[in-house]
Amino acid sequence: MDGSRFKIQPFPTQGVFTGTLLLATLPNNCPTLFPLSIAPAPPVIRVRDLCKYYPGHVAVQDVSFELAAGETLVLLGPSGCGKTTLLKMLNRLIEPTSGTVEINGVAVGRQQPEVLRRGIGYVIQQVGLLPHYTVAENVGVVPRLLGHAPAAIAERTNALLTRLHLPPKRFAHQYPHQLSGGQQQRVGIARALAADPPIMLLDEPFGALDPVTRAGIRREFRELEELRTKTMVLVTHDVTEAFELADRIALLNGGQIQQLGTPHELLFRPANDFVRDFFAAERLALQLRTLRLHELLPFLPPTTQKSSSSTTEYAVITNSFPAIRLLSPNHTVQEAFEILTEPRAAAAPTDQQQANDSVHHVLIAESDKKAPQRQVTLPELMAAFAQAIHQAETAWKS
Ligand code: ADP
Ligand code: MG
Repeated sequence: MDGSRFKIQPFPTQGVFTGTLLLATLPNNCPTLFPLSIAPAPPVIRVRDLCKYYPGHVAVQDVSFELAAGETLVLLGPSGCGKTTLLKMLNRLIEPTSGTVEINGVAVGRQQPEVLRRGIGYVIQQVGLLPHYTVAENVGVVPRLLGHAPAAIAERTNALLTRLHLPPKRFAHQYPHQLSGGQQQRVGIARALAADPPIMLLDEPFGALDPVTRAGIRREFRELEELRTKTMVLVTHDVTEAFELADRIALLNGGQIQQLGTPHELLFRPANDFVRDFFAAERLALQLRTLRLHELLPFLPPTTQKSSSSTTEYAVITNSFPAIRLLSPNHTVQEAFEILTEPRAAAAPTDQQQANDSVHHVLIAESDKKAPQRQVTLPELMAAFAQAIHQAETAWKS
């Protein structure tokens, strides 16, 4: 299934939103909704019974997983649980004590480490830019090793820096010490992408940043066209980061995988107490980010002809602000909630706008023209959210 990799679509940013939300429902048989399973393509990465022992200490134990092309696996867990060790065994920066790693069906132990690593982009925990190289020289390191033509390297470097919001005119000739932490981290990502490797390994790629910068860079990272087709393994200890970026999460503790699954599975079907407790502090925030609007539909008031006609009217009213944003059922409850609670535009309120202010609505517009529209208030949305969570939790307990 082509949709095995779900990507969050950003909202359109143009226009000022003033309170109505459109939810377009795709046809029932739409195959792109909720792709929780992985395509039966050959795995790009296959790890079997991987162990790494240090004298008197187990760093990684009996880890197995497979990764399909284009998938992002996040290795999540507390400090010291073995994430970095596991990641480094994938490109032979660390040799395993036992077990195997295959890339595209070939055991990495049978490949020259240098050759192997050229096909795998690697972003290390401490950024690790070469201090005496300029930004452009840092980005071009691997393509130069691969013997690419200087003109091609320059073109690629400029394109990547531009895409990572580092205008080459300003940044290409600067040195790492002249950059902020966030800028250095972006150069690190550009460097890993330079030779366009199909696989990317990233160890805490946003680790050195403050939370606000971190969230911003993460958003850019998620939307980077360049990364959409890559198979990625990303290490983090940050739960929110894991939920934002992962197709699947491997939650580790003491060198062992406690659970491997989609964010939805880890949150609503925890395999053991460790998994449950690991997400306890951020449970509500994660549920808001993880549940999608189509999961709330069964708990929303049924559509009536009356509300259908009044929504049309409502849509016309709000349209004049302009006020309508189209959301798909694949948007999260969090996204809908943020829009509906957004402060209003600073423009002087009109009568119509005041009318809007008194009633927050979600307008659910079916993409199929014949299907009825739904109109739902914010309290109704939140009530449906509570019911959806309750059902998911009781279904798991029983
Ligand atoms: P994480 O990345 O999850 O923080 P690491 O993979 O770096 O954890 O380390 C896992 C465990 O293995 C830690 O307890 C660490 O102290 C230990 N470890 C890592 N490298 C070595 C080493 N070279 N020698 C001995 N112990 C190590
Ligand atoms: Mg680490």
